[in-house]
Amino acid sequence: MRRLIPLAVIPALLLPAAPASAHPTPPSGPTATGYGGAVASVDPTATAAGLKVLRDGGNAVDAAIAVAATLGVTEPFSSGIGGGGFFVYYDARTGRISTLDGRETAPRTMTETAFVDPATGAPYAFQEARVSGISAGIPGSLATWDTAARRWGTRPLSAALRPAADVARQGFTVDATFAQQVTDNAAAFSQFGPTAQLYLPGGAPPAAGSTLRNPDLAATYDLIARRGVGAFYGGEIGRDIVGAVQHPPVAASPARPWPYAIRPGGMTLDDLRAYDVRSPAPTHVGYRGYDVYGMATPSSGGSTVGEALNLLERSDLRKLDKVQSLHRYLEASALAFADRNRYVGDYTPRPLLDALLTDGYAAERACQIDPARAAAKPVAPGVPDGRYGRCASTSGGAAPDLGLSTTNLTVADKWGNIVEYTLTIEQIGGNGIVVPGRGFLLNNELTDFNFTPTQGTAPDPNLPGPGKRPRSSMAPTIVLQHGKPLLAVGSPGGSTIITTVLQILVNRLDLGMTLPEAIAAPRASQRNTATVTAEPAFIGSPEGQGLAALGHTYTPMAEIGAATGIEFLPHGKLLASAEPVRRGSGSAGTVR
Ligand code: GLU
Repeated sequence: MRRLIPLAVIPALLLPAAPASAHPTPPSGPTATGYGGAVASVDPTATAAGLKVLRDGGNAVDAAIAVAATLGVTEPFSSGIGGGGFFVYYDARTGRISTLDGRETAPRTMTETAFVDPATGAPYAFQEARVSGISAGIPGSLATWDTAARRWGTRPLSAALRPAADVARQGFTVDATFAQQVTDNAAAFSQFGPTAQLYLPGGAPPAAGSTLRNPDLAATYDLIARRGVGAFYGGEIGRDIVGAVQHPPVAASPARPWPYAIRPGGMTLDDLRAYDVRSPAPTHVGYRGYDVYGMATPSSGGSTVGEALNLLERSDLRKLDKVQSLHRYLEASALAFADRNRYVGDYTPRPLLDALLTDGYAAERACQIDPARAAAKPVAPGVPDGRYGRCASTSGGAAPDLGLSTTNLTVADKWGNIVEYTLTIEQIGGNGIVVPGRGFLLNNELTDFNFTPTQGTAPDPNLPGPGKRPRSSMAPTIVLQHGKPLLAVGSPGGSTIITTVLQILVNRLDLGMTLPEAIAAPRASQRNTATVTAEPAFIGSPEGQGLAALGHTYTPMAEIGAATGIEFLPHGKLLASAEPVRRGSGSAGTVR
């Protein structure tokens, strides 16, 4: 059953020039050094919003929420209140690291075969599953912001929403990345009246340099600021979300063809009312004297980065040449991914997750790394049963997920508090459905479940289920040294998030690079697949050629990840760093 909404001609949301706006002047550049607090994100408007909060006396949590709410306007295809994410917080007063799991959740009616076509018995094509109501999980971002503000912030959520609403109302300048993301999604977006009206004004993607306004999202933020998140989790916004999921607002005559049926989902208002933000203990590994904290399930980010670091710790990368260091990085990553695929999902018992992160297990797993040659992939998972010493044989693996969506932000304040936050709506453009009258896209996060079992006869930890959260790869990471913050870093990129964060850590902690160099360096990602996914600059480098001689083969990918991070230098100095080139480059700034 589909509700048909005519693709009416709407008042121009797209204007030729940006009017003077109330939001602060964006900082420029991907790297900034200074004092008093820092922000790094993909977007100058969002970074500026965070810096303004810090300058006005807010803390890192207040500023992170302001950055996230602004990204919901200016980076709507990667994040927003229609999605979810993982928030890692270092509290300077207690020295403790806490996490918030704001992952999208499956509705209570979801079954294990939700992504299998009942007519054919085969899994849906990815785009058919994505552009649907089935793929939308109960969004967690707004609840995450509210929880963080109440628990650690100094101001209510409304204080972050109002300036972001102003950006939506007054408009922001469309950049080349934004325009390209609409172009790439034009067919999906044109299926839905509200999406086409907002992002394909006049039938075409907005031009880079033009101003885009989103008055519906401004009104949505204003409403939540006035009434609280209940307006979303059960109230009138929630009703519209459920309406859009159960009856996707399909355009009467879409301007572009779409080869798939657009299927409704089963989310209800009760599902929205039942949403809860969880606070799992962070994952932790010791690595060469550093303490590395990450995100526990339903993300596989913390455990997979942590396990790979434990494997790498078995050899002193600083004494090896660069080819050997990177060879071990790739091999450790493949082994950790084999375990992730086999064991990690929303219901992984915590003792099992922690067992994957023991040094005893790493000692057994690391003996599979042959310095002389790359192992045939996929490698088999190990057995983290506490009885270690032998080397297991190899076979088995799982399909990769090469997401390009999602966004990451890093914030520190003058008191030393830190937020590392990765948030997403899954694919660029989520499920393609803008909630009618509300100005935000819904996520397609539930396609992060495996559509069918991937582990042969062994149970698959990541099949869909009622109230279950799909496994993520998001890996917001904070590194302490002698109990003091050293580094905070994270990235988007689907399952390449894990390798991007891991490679940045190895670059910075072992290979002698500065944080900006570690972020800028060409990337390679081995996720237990036959070939290494790598950027052309990596493949063509002397190290890339040296790795090929060890048996690594490549699948080129133009860009992997879009990281941000902050390094905590001596005497309170901060080094904030975003991408210099990837995703059209990011934006970092410091308070002073
Ligand atoms: N949905 C993905 C995850 O949670 C992130 C998507 C992306 O980064 O492109 O792992």
